[in-house]
Amino acid sequence: MIQRPKGTKDILPQESRTWQFIEESAKNVFDHYGFSEIRVPVFEHTELFQRGVGDTTDVVQKEMYTFEDKGGRSITLRPEGTAGVVRAYIENGMASLPSPVKLWYNMAMYRYENVQKGRYREFHQIGAELIGSSSYEADVEIICMAKRILDSLGMDSVMLNLNSIGCPLCRAQYQKALKEWIKPNLDRYCQTCKSRFDKNPMRILDCKEKVCKELNSGAPEILNYLCDECKCHFENVKKTLDRLNIEYKIDSRIVRGLDYYTKTVFEFVDSKNGLTVLAGGRYDGLIKELDGQDTPAVGYAMGVERVAELLAQKQEIKLLSPEIYVAQIGEEPNLFATMLVEELRSKNIYAQKDITEKSLKAQFKYADKIGAKYVVTIGEDELKEKTAKLKNMNTGEEIETILSADEIIEKLK
Ligand code: ATP
Ligand code: MG
Repeated sequence: MIQRPKGTKDILPQESRTWQFIEESAKNVFDHYGFSEIRVPVFEHTELFQRGVGDTTDVVQKEMYTFEDKGGRSITLRPEGTAGVVRAYIENGMASLPSPVKLWYNMAMYRYENVQKGRYREFHQIGAELIGSSSYEADVEIICMAKRILDSLGMDSVMLNLNSIGCPLCRAQYQKALKEWIKPNLDRYCQTCKSRFDKNPMRILDCKEKVCKELNSGAPEILNYLCDECKCHFENVKKTLDRLNIEYKIDSRIVRGLDYYTKTVFEFVDSKNGLTVLAGGRYDGLIKELDGQDTPAVGYAMGVERVAELLAQKQEIKLLSPEIYVAQIGEEPNLFATMLVEELRSKNIYAQKDITEKSLKAQFKYADKIGAKYVVTIGEDELKEKTAKLKNMNTGEEIETILSADEIIEKLK
């Protein structure tokens, strides 16, 4: 038997209902904040991610699905959403739209990861990008919107962790201090960290290797190195969140896995399983890096698998059950039943009937199994009289109805 590739997942109908609930809740919140949906390709030129995500990141160094296509181009399956969205923003001249431009997406992502709990090779992110505001207010709005989505999903065990990683100006100072601090132990770090030491030492703080994590404890904190502008920006974010009664914790260890972040970075972490369900931050340098006009932006992405797994533990979401099941016996009644369910469906009623030539008894059993709310049974007599019994499957109560879609709909109410 052929099995699914490692790190992929089948979403079966029951779980799909949970996914739809997540997607609808998120879309509803996006609508109220003025965010519109954007859809971009599953694959892009590899260079987009090398430049956009950063070529010293785990994502680019270890996790990309990259291949040469038949035309000899280097192509990569998108490992994250922001680079593609920003490319589309630049390429389609969206800079001329009223600013800020507010976009959301819901897309599959591909990363060659070490597969473990909550970590897949194909996974889905619902994300948002707010392009064109350098104000702390944009950070606040993005955080509020993220929290509102998680709240609307009833995710009450997630905590907001906040940090600032400054701008290229203050980061230069910090990186110098960090390098001095790491240097005496550099021998003991993993190969990847060693290779990042000169090019991008902050990446070392994001390493997932146990040895490196241990070595990193007690490292200098970027918050102590912020320049005046970054400090002021961060104070304003915190002050406004306080006024809005949004709880947060400062976590100086958040550096984020992608290179393009500046200033505010944040993660919503589930306190029960310790997994990050939603993460984001400001990325003021990315649009220019990708040859657009220098434009500030802030955004986030939520891991749909992780949220769905938490929700599944909390509540069982049931499949939709039919309003009515039309049971029948005999050739003419069967044909009539087919026309009746089609007419009911055309009037927005979820109706089912047998299409497998089951016995009447088996039809009843099936209607019960799929949770039909009402069953109407049609035989030769009912067809002649044009009336039948409508049975409430919950109470067992039976009422008489004329055999027309409109009458039945009236009775279902
Ligand atoms: P980490 O440091 O844990 O690898 P990251 O920095 O790579 O995280 P992002 O790229 O910011 O994570 O992704 C945002 C969110 O998307 C994560 O918080 C998580 O919920 C989800 N996510 C990321 N990678 C995966 C994956 N491989 N499988 C499932 N969900 C993921
Ligand atoms: Mg990662």
